[in-house]
Amino acid sequence: MAEKLIILGSGPSGLTAAIYAARADLNPLVLEGINPGGQLMGTTEVDNFPGFPDGIMGPELIQNMKKQAERFGAKFETKNVDSVDFSNPKNLKLVVSEKTYETESLIIATGATARWLNLGKDEERFWGKGYTACATCDGFFFRDKIVGVVGGGDSACEEADFLTKFATKVYLIHRRDELRASKPMQKRVFDNPKIEILWDKNVTDLHGENLLESVELTDSKTDKKNSLKLDGLFVSIGHTPATKFLGESLEKLPNGYLKVENHTKTKIPSVFVAGDVCDHQYRQAITAAGMGCMAALDAERYLTGGISQTY
Ligand code: NAP
Repeated sequence: MAEKLIILGSGPSGLTAAIYAARADLNPLVLEGINPGGQLMGTTEVDNFPGFPDGIMGPELIQNMKKQAERFGAKFETKNVDSVDFSNPKNLKLVVSEKTYETESLIIATGATARWLNLGKDEERFWGKGYTACATCDGFFFRDKIVGVVGGGDSACEEADFLTKFATKVYLIHRRDELRASKPMQKRVFDNPKIEILWDKNVTDLHGENLLESVELTDSKTDKKNSLKLDGLFVSIGHTPATKFLGESLEKLPNGYLKVENHTKTKIPSVFVAGDVCDHQYRQAITAAGMGCMAALDAERYLTGGISQTY
């Protein structure tokens, strides 16, 4: 029998969609992925999610959201979807290994993964111990420290600027001799006396006992190597939205993120999108959660012929 609503993904957007949809009696099925919880599972303390004055650990926040969704009857399966057949919008077919799930509506909240530098085992060893991908989440822990930011786009520049609130010195480490970031963002970096740009440099190794202590830099023009002492390294070289299983069926932006219209809608009336899989700009747990709420309300309106039962 077809489900009314399937939600793909179990980060803040998928789980908030599940809470709202379950409370609206849609009995949603969440296919949470084989690594449930999304990016918050790799985060330590979350200090900026409203409602937690003393902060909360990322995995605990996710666990709480899941419990809340289950309280209202959301069902969970730890599965990845291989492909989706969108040919009949009223009966979407999701292929999961040998099984096919049918559903009247779908919320895609599969998120995005931060790109890493591909430095092998050391990257995992120092993850959360000085090596991180989120200045907004972790910047606070680097008060009076020296940090580096890898990247030359808007995110790297914004993060470098943000980190100067805490750190005494921020190195912006970029592999080329010009920034990709927009001109206003570049100006912000050039005008900030705490930021020093290291041009034509790649981070090629990480060093330290338990915590990160220094990085190896390799010049992209001369191949010359040198060591740079750092307490923290923020990698900001872009994210990859999890859309591979969708093929070309839904519209995407040139940067690969799903294109949404009117908040969470797609060209297919029964398909809605929420969170980092479509949001390349804000990418916060709270904005993802907000979009998950909107997607659930939009799906509910679609299923009930335009009338929301929720409020
Ligand atoms: P991005 O624009 O794709 O920039 C990624 C940066 O990382 C580039 O400078 C790239 O270098 C570098 N990079 C990529 N792979 C690398 C590697 N393996 N090693 C070293 N460096 C590497 O990504 P983003 O900065 O996250 O921005 C994503 C989108 O969000 C953009 O459209 C951006 O405008 C937008 N955004 C806007 C704002 C804002 O307006 N406030 C803030 C943040 C993001 P190259 O330049 O050499 O390719």
